[in-house]
Amino acid sequence: MNRYRSHHNAELRKSDIGAQATLAGWVDVRRDHGGVIFIDLRDREGLTQVVFRPEENAELARQAHHLRTEDVIQVSGRVAPRIAGTENPKLATGDIELLPSSLTILNRAENLPFHLDDEVKNEDLELTYRYYDLRRPRLARNLRLRHRVTQAAREYLDAQGFVEIETPILSKSTPEGARDFLVPSRLAPGKFYALPQAPQQYKQLLMVAGVEKYFQIAKCFRDEDLRADRQPEFTQIDIEASFVRPEEIYALTEGMLAAVFKAARGIDVPTPFPRMTYREAVDTFGSDKPDRRFGMQLVDLADVFRGSEFKMFRGALDSGGVVKAMNAKGFAGITIGQVDELTAMAKQYGAKGLAFIKVENGEWKSPIVKFFTDAEKQALASKLSIEEGDCIFFAADRWEIATEVLGRIRLRIAEIQQLTASSDVLDFLWVTEFPLMQFDAAEDKWNAVHHPFTRPKADDLPLLEEKRYGEVRAEAYDVVLNGVEIGGGSIRIHEPELQAKLFSAYGVDEQQQQAMFGHMLRAFRLGAPPHGGIALGLDRLVMLICGELSIREVMAFPKNNRGMDLMSQSPAPAERRQLRDLRLRLAADERAQSESKSPPER
Ligand code: ASP
Repeated sequence: MNRYRSHHNAELRKSDIGAQATLAGWVDVRRDHGGVIFIDLRDREGLTQVVFRPEENAELARQAHHLRTEDVIQVSGRVAPRIAGTENPKLATGDIELLPSSLTILNRAENLPFHLDDEVKNEDLELTYRYYDLRRPRLARNLRLRHRVTQAAREYLDAQGFVEIETPILSKSTPEGARDFLVPSRLAPGKFYALPQAPQQYKQLLMVAGVEKYFQIAKCFRDEDLRADRQPEFTQIDIEASFVRPEEIYALTEGMLAAVFKAARGIDVPTPFPRMTYREAVDTFGSDKPDRRFGMQLVDLADVFRGSEFKMFRGALDSGGVVKAMNAKGFAGITIGQVDELTAMAKQYGAKGLAFIKVENGEWKSPIVKFFTDAEKQALASKLSIEEGDCIFFAADRWEIATEVLGRIRLRIAEIQQLTASSDVLDFLWVTEFPLMQFDAAEDKWNAVHHPFTRPKADDLPLLEEKRYGEVRAEAYDVVLNGVEIGGGSIRIHEPELQAKLFSAYGVDEQQQQAMFGHMLRAFRLGAPPHGGIALGLDRLVMLICGELSIREVMAFPKNNRGMDLMSQSPAPAERRQLRDLRLRLAADERAQSESKSPPER
């Protein structure tokens, strides 16, 4: 036999009984039943049972007895029916077994770092042995689903006339709100490339080039503190098109997501997706990426408390703020620990405290109730549909703070009450009309909410002229799935004057504009077409499709939460020679630390 195998391990059926077959793979499990050795032989497709009977071939059975989990073997033999009653209907090959006449050990596996059927216990250990961990059927399935997703996206975009173009990795800083990874240049000492935070500028320049429809499955790099579920490098499905309005980007994205869900999960996603403005999303859900799979909406109480005696609420309204509340149904049994947690959360997001009312035994329990008039109570009861067992949370503050606090608490309560745990709803949503700019008090300047190439809404251009920056809305949109932002984009500025004006508004003076973005401004002067686009976070999308809770589960080689690749021990110290070539000198402290771990100089 000049092939390693004649079949894969999920292939043989009843109809193959009596035939010869050669299989290869890993020993998933070895069982010894009184000298009869049962091997579950695994490859990426599945399992086949291989049975060594001493009465048929004593020598082979003896060899098989010494096989260990994860050894790589090849077996040839006859396909036989399983003994009646021992068939396994859960297995594609569950009717048959292979009775081998030969066994070749292709490689041994020694000292397994952990067992693949164990629960995740030590993530660092698993990441160190990631190539081994990836043999878990769940992770193997995730990688293949990821491939299905990118494949479906590619096919869809290709059918729509989009051209896949690679843009440089060694590139120039492009602001997407994170820190750049820098790569020192050897040929231009003292100068640095930046790894792209996104291919934003290149894709816009491709529009100036007349490409009209571009996409890329693009690697992006952002040097952020790795909060929660971030990775320093991740992948976007990056799209840009010329002569488009948001409607066309929405339809294209919806079509692509529908194709992806169909290909990866066999699900028909209804389109078009509903839309909500940023203002409405934050106002009613306390989030610009609302999870609408459960209610608990924020209710505005300005008209209830406008003339109230209760100073805390009245005061917030008088100083231009809001009073908002939400009803956590059936949450009156809130524990002291939960009260502490939610109060700490409210404070973390800028509130002074957290007021709430529990409805128990027909009574409203809260220190604030005594300040309410009967009319106010009645209005509250009807606006919030208050019933026995409910818990009402209040926020009286600036709009931004009150909505954020209640929005965070809303999500936490949904988690505690497991409101989405058993839901298989796919709630897609466009959030539109994001603000263009936000004020950074620490830096005392206006920043772009999205990035500085985002177009202001035409209706709001007069506000821009009047420098009422906080009120200008952007021609920007996000696509949200079940409370997770899976993509975002905008129509861009294509006029050099408008772009220069916005750079100035963001505090980039003319000299800096030329140094940082001269190429963009020059390109816009050479007949740039109107254009816009979007980028979807591939990792998050695949995570949701796979039903995983972390993007690490859908990346082949993720970094840990300290940004390290534990498997290859990267980042690692550089050799002195490399530093010399780059004309880099480390500051004294780091040098001592780095040299102690440096590989010897070659
Ligand atoms: N470059 C943007 C981002 O990475 C997406 C876009 O505007 O197309 O968020």
